[in-house]
Formats: sequence, structure tokens, C-alpha cells
Amino acid sequence: MSSDLSKFSELGLAPKLLDAIADTGYTTPTPIQTKAIPLVLGGGDLLAAAQTGTGKTAGFTLPLLQRLNESAKGRAKPGKPRCLILTPTRELAAQIAESVQTYGKHLPLKSLVVFGGVNINPQRMAMRKPVDILIATPGRLLDLVGQNIVNLSEIDILVLDEADRMLDMGFIHDIKKVLRLLPTRRQSLLFSATFSTDIRKLAHSLLNSPQEVSVTPRNTTTELVEQTVHMVDKSKKRSLLSLLIKQHDWSQVLVFTKTKHGANRLAEQLGKDGIEALAIHGNKSQAARTKALAKFKNGSLQVLVATDIAARGIDIEHLPNVVNYELPHVSEDYVHRIGRTGRAGSTGQAISLVNIDEVKLLKGIEKLIGKKIPQVEIEGYTGLTEEPGSTIVERKPRPPRRGRSANAQNQSEKGGNGNSGKRQSTSGHASRRQNKNASSSNQQNGKSNTSQQQEVNGNRLNTDNHSGDSQRNNGNTKDRQGANGNRKRSSTNAKNQRSGNGQSGNRRRRAS
Ligand code: AMP
Repeated sequence: MSSDLSKFSELGLAPKLLDAIADTGYTTPTPIQTKAIPLVLGGGDLLAAAQTGTGKTAGFTLPLLQRLNESAKGRAKPGKPRCLILTPTRELAAQIAESVQTYGKHLPLKSLVVFGGVNINPQRMAMRKPVDILIATPGRLLDLVGQNIVNLSEIDILVLDEADRMLDMGFIHDIKKVLRLLPTRRQSLLFSATFSTDIRKLAHSLLNSPQEVSVTPRNTTTELVEQTVHMVDKSKKRSLLSLLIKQHDWSQVLVFTKTKHGANRLAEQLGKDGIEALAIHGNKSQAARTKALAKFKNGSLQVLVATDIAARGIDIEHLPNVVNYELPHVSEDYVHRIGRTGRAGSTGQAISLVNIDEVKLLKGIEKLIGKKIPQVEIEGYTGLTEEPGSTIVERKPRPPRRGRSANAQNQSEKGGNGNSGKRQSTSGHASRRQNKNASSSNQQNGKSNTSQQQEVNGNRLNTDNHSGDSQRNNGNTKDRQGANGNRKRSSTNAKNQRSGNGQSGNRRRRAS
């Protein structure tokens, strides 16, 4: 064991995990790792406040691998995982699966990642073999449970990652359903970037005398990110962005827009300016999202334009630049967004382009993070000339949709593979997020699908790419909408919804 890793070994990690850590090149545990690893190894429940970029994934993955490996209970039975890691988005799920594989490469444990938007059949097949660690988004997990493919009665360790985001995305009912299927005797870990009252409530309902750890004060942004604001008219934002990218010769910049349509349009416009850009959002097929992300990660794509949800969990080492092309409506999202840069010790730059109608949002963000973000003027782009309210696109409220088809219901930012889904307004609030992305495009437009089963020892057992079908609804429709926290149901087969054990195809708000 390298003496470099003494700090990791002091945390109680086994030699095989230390070897895997050595392969990653990490030398020192991050603060969340220092705090969380011994606690998790001790077997207790954990409530952790850690934003993305702090190294939290290794903070829970390393000790849970060790506990599973050392458990006297032995290996998993087919269909009955021993550890469940629940995450809000596909990207995050895929990334955690990668970490599980990386850190567990010298252990004989098997892991599988499952999420929606891809063919369920390979996931069904993979679950016929023993899977120790199941990484899942809530919707697809419940589908698999509903089809009696996954049984959660043997779960020893539960991890809820990015719990705040899961609540933002309206997964509370799915989470509760999952919790009802778990044994009461288990270890539970909850990670969240922000600690709202709802998170505390959730934590209370699922954790047993948890230890609390926190690595960043509530809702603060990492000190390693240099934040600046450019006050600029909306009509000049695109040319300012092109200018900044070219002037600074940024090689890798993640740009956030509020809407899927806006992301597409901006990527196209940047292309016309000679800057290679791709958009990722929930209306893109999983294959397109994966491809764009891979290109961006390996440095062959200069600009990735993303919506908040699609970008969730994007983890790129030393991502130097994040641009808020539009400010998020929910101030906490600003913290999440700029958490993409300045990760694990490297420095980064977060720039926000703010027009007259976003000044209020900026104030909200500054209040949340407890500091004023410096404003920088750029020649040719100074002064706000647009009238307040002139950049807000208000839409007539849509009439309530009753008994929406299951296909339509499935097309959300989180899960849709369809094509449409435009809905824009620059005014709004957090809860609207839950509805805004539902579109009426056809589920059958599902594109390339990927499913992976990975052995933790690094051998991939099964990687499939499919096109076409998405095994969703078998005709049972449950329509839930979460606007303003009110839920609406139209159930054509309510019986099947109970306790997640119903027939296949029961619908819920779709994760990913
Ligand atoms: P996370 O917060 O889990 O998304 O991790 C953020 C980034 O930190 C990932 O790219 C990890 O590979 C990296 N990381 C995790 N632990 C360490 C460590 N001890 N030293 C350096 N980088 C780390």
C-alpha cells in the first residue's frame, strides 16, 4: 500500500479499495470522505449535506463496497440486490455506476444500473443474475419491481443521492413506495446539497438516529469557483457568449438554458458563429445525450448547452467554465449549476448573463449564497436598454388535461425520448418544473437504448444498444401532476398501483 494513501487507510478502508483509490490517483480524502467513510463503515445511518463536486460519491461508494464485501450474508440472489442507490437522473445513475465499478474493481461484487428511456428487456435479463448493487432512477426501478423482476426485500444498504433534486422532480411518492418495499433493518444514507424542511421530513421518515455531516455550509457556493455577472440585454446574450468563448479561447464550457427549446436554439446559433456546440435535454434520445456528453467529456466538443435536469450529475474533471445563459428560477439550481466547476480542488469560473427581467432572480441567488456576485462590464455590451417585462414570454395557461394518455405522460424532461415539448415562459416558480416539460410527443419515438450490466471487477457482462421500442405502458394509466404541490390522478387501473407491486406498465411521473 502506498504511504500516500495513509489518510485513506486511516479511515478504515480495506487494502483492495486502497488499491483502487491508488489507481484513480487520489491522494487525500476530501472532507466529506473523511467524515462519511468511518461513519458508514460503522454501520450507522447518515444524513449528509454535500453538494456535487465534493467527492461525495466516493464518500458513500467506498464504505458500502467494503461493507457488502465483508458481510456475513454472502452474495446476492438473482433479482434481490443487497444495496440500492437511488438517484434522480439517468446521467447521475450512469456516473455513480461508473464510480462503483472504478472503486470496486478489485472486489467480486456485481452492479447494475437501470434507468428509463431505454429498453427495459436487457435490464430484466441482467436482473436474472445476482446483482449486489443496483443503481436506479425511481420510475424504472418501480417498473421492474412491478414486473416482479426486482425484489427489494434483501436490501441491506440504501443510498438516496441528491435527495433534494429528487423532491424537486416530484419523486416523493415514488420514494415512499420504494421505502415501503425495503426491510426495516437496513443502513440508510441520504445525501443532499440543500436541506429544506421537506428533506428533513424525508430524512426523519427513512433514517434511524442518523449521524449528520456537512461539508459546505448550507447553500453556499464553493470558494473555488470565481463567479461573475454580466448585465446584458437578452438580445445581445448570444453574441456576448460567442465573444467570451472566442476571446478567452474556452475549451470546454457548459452553458445552461432554462428550456429545451432554448438549448437547441442556442447550440444552433453558436454553430453558426463557428463554435461547435451540442444541446442535451430530456427530449433528446438517451443515445444522443450519452454521445454529446462523451464528446464533451473527452474534449472534442467545445460547448455543451444543457437544461438543469439534463445536466444533473454531469461530472467532468476540472471543468473550467460554466455559463448561466439564463438564470434559473430556483435559486438553489444556481448552486447546483456552478457546482459543475471548481470540483474536488480545482478552480473554475462561473459566468452569468443577466438581463433586466432576471435582476430579481439574481437578487434571490445572492441572498441564498450570502454574497454579492461581482458585476463585470464588457465593452459593447454595457447598459440594459430593454424595457422590464419585454423579454418575458407569457403563454396563455393551458386548459387542464384530463386523462392524458400514458404515452404523453411519459414525455417529461426526465424521461421523454420524444421530440417536442416546447413550453416557454420566463416567469414561474419551482413547482412548475414538475409539469412544464410534459409534452405530447409520442413515446414510440424512443431512439437508441442502452443498458449495462457491469461487474464490479471491471468486466462488463452485458452492454446492449437497441433502437425502437420502449417497454412502457400496458394500458394502465396513472396520471399524476404536481403543479404547486397538488396532485391530480386519473387512474384507469388504480388497483395495479398499490405498493409498487402491480402489473407492468403502471405509470407514474417519469424519472429517467
Ligand atoms: P462527486 O462529488 O462525487 O461528484 O465527485 C466530484 C469529483 O471529485 C469526481 O470527479 C471524483 O473523481 C473526484 N474525487 C473524488 N474523490 C476525490 C479525492 N479524494 N481526490 C481528488 N478527487 C476526488
